Amino acid sequence: MRIRTKFTLWISLVSLSTAILASLIVYIELLEEPYKMIDRELYDVVGTALNAVDLSHPAETGRRLQKLDYHINRYWFKITDKNGKTVFSSSLARLFDIPRRTDKGKYFFRQKISPAQLWIDPGDIDELDEVTDDAVKFRVVTVSRDTPAGAYEVMIAKPLLFFDMELQELRFRLGWGICGTVVLVFLASYFLAGRILRPISTINHHIRLIREHSLNRRIPLGDSRDELQVLSTSLNMMFDRLQFSFTQQKEFIGNAAHELKSPLTILMLGHEEMLAANPPEMVRQELEKQLNTMRRLSRLVRDLLDISRLEQGESCHRQPVRLDQIVDQVVEDYHELLQARRIAVDVETATVSLMGDPEQLLRLMINLIDNAIKYNLAVNGRIVVRTEKIKGQTVLTVANTGQPIPAVDLPRIFDQFYRVEKSRSQVYGGSGLGLTIVKRIVELHGGNITAASDNGWTSFTVVLPDMS
Ligand code: ADP
Repeated sequence: MRIRTKFTLWISLVSLSTAILASLIVYIELLEEPYKMIDRELYDVVGTALNAVDLSHPAETGRRLQKLDYHINRYWFKITDKNGKTVFSSSLARLFDIPRRTDKGKYFFRQKISPAQLWIDPGDIDELDEVTDDAVKFRVVTVSRDTPAGAYEVMIAKPLLFFDMELQELRFRLGWGICGTVVLVFLASYFLAGRILRPISTINHHIRLIREHSLNRRIPLGDSRDELQVLSTSLNMMFDRLQFSFTQQKEFIGNAAHELKSPLTILMLGHEEMLAANPPEMVRQELEKQLNTMRRLSRLVRDLLDISRLEQGESCHRQPVRLDQIVDQVVEDYHELLQARRIAVDVETATVSLMGDPEQLLRLMINLIDNAIKYNLAVNGRIVVRTEKIKGQTVLTVANTGQPIPAVDLPRIFDQFYRVEKSRSQVYGGSGLGLTIVKRIVELHGGNITAASDNGWTSFTVVLPDMS
């Protein structure tokens, strides 16, 4: 899961929990206060009513309470004596009975009753339509009294018709509030996570641009002095160290090859001189064997020097070049070898000019033609070389008959020292660096090279952009 999604989900979850908790606290607090007020109201009414009660004169009690009629009839109100005989009951108490609970002095009771039978505050009449539940909740309070005239008990209950409705409304609003908050927090945290993580994407983008041939690129440091800037600085320092050791390694290969070149040339010259002096047959054979090995070694040293030069020089010296002329020159140079191997060459060159490094392009052509001859068929071999301009780009194709390159090897043939068939390549004196050099030259010219091998033909296609 992406960090941005994780971050958003976590923040949303935390905000959802916080909103639920806060709403619960508010709800419970809000719920307690009105009940306390209702209870106080009920005790007040009971207090007023009890002042009117005189058990020794029940008739007088009834009369006095009737005077409080308007007040009393808002409630379910009942006074019973110690024998359970009703001394007084309000009109609502005559409609239904509320069972007495001995375990609690205050409790709730539900009764199915039409709102029309209840006393409704004139200000609340309009809201009556919204009452849907026909069971009304009552808050019940009981009070017992012992007087010299005897013990009696008062039960009073207040219908909570609109109170329930308001609670429901409150729950509804809190619910919507929570949902709204979570949606808002979700969107805000998604946006914020994107903003916070954007520098990481930028760092990632710049790291991806640092490749083998662009080791000098670095992550730009922004103005914000935060942890990501520290990370970028550390990464840049690491790239500095890597580039240093990489360059040192390349220089070492170049220097080593350079050091080998002169002694090898001297050795070869010495062997050639010994051969020229007509040595005995056995010695001649041995000298020729050694000379061949030295030639192979010399090619390897030359390739290593070339690679090292190409790797260190990050650009090429461009000038107007006729690629078709380079092709003709190389084919001409290989004329004898082609004849000896009886390989037919089709050169289909249109006049192609481009801005390039003539020496490097010559090397590229030599390597491709050299391979096309080396890996061609033993008999009836063919080579096709084509240069053309397609959509302003220079396209060079070198194709040859011969044993195909297996599909698994194709993507790797441009790697250093990679040879498809080690024994076969060694017979031809290959080092596995020829195509690496070709690819590097193509890259220095800003182009690309692809290889294909099927139906008995292997072809290399070089595309060079127009740099003029
Ligand atoms: P080498 O010096 O061994 O020729 P290269 O880098 O030039 O190394 O080529 C890598 C491998 O690709 C070779 O070992 C060979 O098997 C294969 N290859 C290159 N060019 C051709 C070609 N024209 N036809 C067939 N195989 C080729």
